[in-house]
Amino acid sequence: MALFDFLRWRRQPAFKEDLGAEGPLTAMVIFAHPDDAEFTCGGTVAKWCAQGWTVYYVLATSGDKGTHEAELSSQELAAIREQEQRDACRVLGVKDVVFLGYPDGFVEPDHDLRGQVVRLLRRYRPDVVLTWDGFRQGFNHSDHRAVGIAVRDAVYPAVRDHLYYPEDKRDGFDAHQVNEMLLAGADDPDYHVDIGDHAETKLEAVLCHSSQLGERSKDEIRKIWTERMRSSPGGRLRESFKRVTVRRSMRQQQPPGQEASAQPAAANRHAESSEASGPSRSRV
Ligand SMILES: [Zn+2]
Repeated sequence: MALFDFLRWRRQPAFKEDLGAEGPLTAMVIFAHPDDAEFTCGGTVAKWCAQGWTVYYVLATSGDKGTHEAELSSQELAAIREQEQRDACRVLGVKDVVFLGYPDGFVEPDHDLRGQVVRLLRRYRPDVVLTWDGFRQGFNHSDHRAVGIAVRDAVYPAVRDHLYYPEDKRDGFDAHQVNEMLLAGADDPDYHVDIGDHAETKLEAVLCHSSQLGERSKDEIRKIWTERMRSSPGGRLRESFKRVTVRRSMRQQQPPGQEASAQPAAANRHAESSEASGPSRSRV
């Protein structure tokens, strides 16, 4: 992602930002590389943490290919980038970060990755999962695509059904239902988070990724950021996602033979509400 893509703003219609409206939730942010989250959802994470949410990060790789410095080895770069990511998490208020250790650029949406994600979902039991949109059209990094697909397959149905990866139960991690997903990098975002009060926290988290900032100094980047904030209407910035509601629709939850009046919780090309079943937690 170009460094300043995240600085862009645009006018958007009024929106309802209702996740967590009834109280703080638990979220798991699952991406491919260190810095993916800060660029795409750093303001959202800062906002959630400020509201009392519990947020965990899971990163498939440690970004061990992301440098032009010829003298750096993959191992050295991975260590640098893991530390940068931990620093960014501290700025945002993230509770913990897990690195899965896949080689940068070679992530596959296979059973191994899906199983690792399922286990972490069963362990940390998030209400909301935020990840890449693995099905976006056009250009996409293969690791982003792979993570997005594996996480979708983990959330539905593997994490919910105990016969998938039964070793998790033996180790004390019961099946779990994730109700909501937010997909970053989607072609058709429909869920917008106002990060106006958290934009500077996002910037400071982005700046933790010193190895990825290019030629500009941090002060130069802060200056550009401040100017753009000043030029935006009311200093408002938003981060946008595609929302996928995984829980069963209200119609399906009616007793047999009873007419339902509520509409499905989500109706979009990503939603699997007509297929998903099982317990849903009440807070989302
Ligand atoms: Zn990335």
